[in-house]
Amino acid sequence: MSALPCPHCKKPTISWWQKYKAAKWALIYCRECHGKSCSYPYVLVAYTMLYVWDLMLFGALAYLDQNAWYILVMVVFWVILDIFSVYLPLSPMKSKSKTP
Ligand SMILES: [Zn+2]
Repeated sequence: MSALPCPHCKKPTISWWQKYKAAKWALIYCRECHGKSCSYPYVLVAYTMLYVWDLMLFGALAYLDQNAWYILVMVVFWVILDIFSVYLPLSPMKSKSKTP
């Protein structure tokens, strides 16, 4: 798969793996412009709440109903959330190279 554009310099320097990790609150450093980026924070908070909702709801249902199928449903939702997490928008942060 091709690389994704950096929010600072627009060059294709960001890998899908970096984008995936950015959805897990990691920072991305561009190797061309040394700009720092992250997933858009408000979207990331909402997305993290979906993970918490998945864990709480299906974990509680599995515990209260004593039915292990809810664990499978929880894992499937988790994988779906992980797949779509690479499409979260990136937000540029203040760059180290742009100091006055
Ligand atoms: Zn860049």
